[in-house]
Amino acid sequence: MLIVLIAAMALLIWNGSEIFQQLTFARKGLEADLKIAVTALTLNLALILFGWRRYVDLVHEAEARRDGEARAALIASTDGMTGLLNRKGFADRGEELRQAAASQGHQLTIFSLQLSRFKAINDRHGYDVGDKVLRMIAASLEQQSAGGLVARLAGDEFAIAIASPAEHVPEAEQMAERLLRAVTRPMEAEGRLVQVGAYIGIAASNPSEGQIPDLLRRADIALDRAKSNCSARPVWFDESMERALVLHGEIEQGIRYGLEHGQFIPYFEPQIDLLTGEIIGFEVLARWNHPLSGLIEPDRFIPVAEEHGLIGRLSEQIILAALVQAASWDPAIKISVNISPTQLTDSWLAQRIVRLLAEAGFPAERLVVEITESSLFADLDLARAIVTSLKNQGIRLALDDFGTGFSSLAHLRALPFDVIKIDRSFVSTLASDAESAAIVRAVTTLADALKVPVTVEGIEDAATHAAVAGFGCAVGQGWYFGKPMSGDQASALLRSRETPAIPNQTPARQAG
Ligand code: C2E
Ligand code: MG
Ligand code: MG
Repeated sequence: MLIVLIAAMALLIWNGSEIFQQLTFARKGLEADLKIAVTALTLNLALILFGWRRYVDLVHEAEARRDGEARAALIASTDGMTGLLNRKGFADRGEELRQAAASQGHQLTIFSLQLSRFKAINDRHGYDVGDKVLRMIAASLEQQSAGGLVARLAGDEFAIAIASPAEHVPEAEQMAERLLRAVTRPMEAEGRLVQVGAYIGIAASNPSEGQIPDLLRRADIALDRAKSNCSARPVWFDESMERALVLHGEIEQGIRYGLEHGQFIPYFEPQIDLLTGEIIGFEVLARWNHPLSGLIEPDRFIPVAEEHGLIGRLSEQIILAALVQAASWDPAIKISVNISPTQLTDSWLAQRIVRLLAEAGFPAERLVVEITESSLFADLDLARAIVTSLKNQGIRLALDDFGTGFSSLAHLRALPFDVIKIDRSFVSTLASDAESAAIVRAVTTLADALKVPVTVEGIEDAATHAAVAGFGCAVGQGWYFGKPMSGDQASALLRSRETPAIPNQTPARQAG
């Protein structure tokens, strides 16, 4: 534009000198030429004015474009609701902070904060109140964050980044405590008094060691630990959490592979009639026959299988293999199988079990399905529908691990249980703890009144056996009678039993 202006000025000067000559000429009497010269002058002036106006317009346009771009960048990096940074803004500004911290030799600390019970505020008081609460929380976090970067990453998730000299890093925990106190104080929003909970994970590192997304991921891992431990205090990231996560991933991959290659097998734990000492059935317990690690107990893989939606497939493999094996056993022997809470949310579960029975040629009357009390919380109506279908087929139903959950009478009566299994945590302390003995006796009396027989788990010695038999418990299982064993060992045990399976007559005892 400047060039246009200079060109216009040069033109004017050049033309001006020409006009001057023309005027001199006119003065010599040529009036017509004077007119032409005036016209030319006017034209040149108009040209200059036009050029100037165009220049000013272009300058304004450029400014407006710059403003628009700045506004768009601000919107793209800001959370509209709270005015805090959003995830992108946090990453961009965090990177600037990281570089500044690195140049000063400072440490970078990231706090990952998530609210709990926030959804309940939206549900109970509406979105206006929820939005107001989020804005108040955002303001509190900014106030407490000592000039650090504060972002809202998603609905109820926030992050704070601060750079500080390494010797100040231990103080981060006090800051996290302050953040927690600030967001969990009772607040008044739209005339309602509300309060949320919160968890915090913290990760700190030398800024040259990792970029912001990596540091945030570590703070998130610590946050997950805080949530799973229901920790009211901030949780620091440590390397073992990352290793546990990797292990979790490896177990998941291993389960998928193991399912394809038949590595999951049923083990059988004998169940004994406490009056006669006869084996009356077996509980089927999953084992992972791992080619490198050997036999793996279910506590290590069932929770991972549940979390990744693999428990249904795993359970079906175990149940089918168990039923196929047990189909040829004494028809009086019952087989109990465990069903996870997540399986009870599958409306096709009853059909799947019935199909397995048909495939194995195993009579429905010989099958007992064990479910825990916690299975009933997800969807009691669906659980009831599934159980009704199972019972219509003649399958029996046991309430497993009774005493560890709410153990309410309401749950006991919610479904038509045929057996109540008292959890082994009470049974193993029965001899030493009067309270456990009182609980086992009370549950047996209650079950008696409801006309539901009791099975006692975890009988490990003769004294416990005598005690539970004395309380009137009908059936027992535990290492005193036999540890979980392979299908072939269970077959051999059944073949060898001319006499009751009370200890020292039980063959095939082995580690389970
Ligand atoms: P559970 O159903 O309560 O099974 C009883 C657990 O107590 C078994 O552990 C058994 O080995 C153990 N046990 C039995 N008697 C004694 C005893 O006298 N002393 C001691 N210390 N322990 C005893 P296991 O096999 O490790 O199974 C743990 C849990 O894993 C089971 O608890 C059940 O909830 C779950 N589980 C096992 N197999 C399956 C399966 O196929 N599907 C599902 N969904 N869950 C399974
Ligand atoms: Mg069980
Ligand atoms: Mg149990």
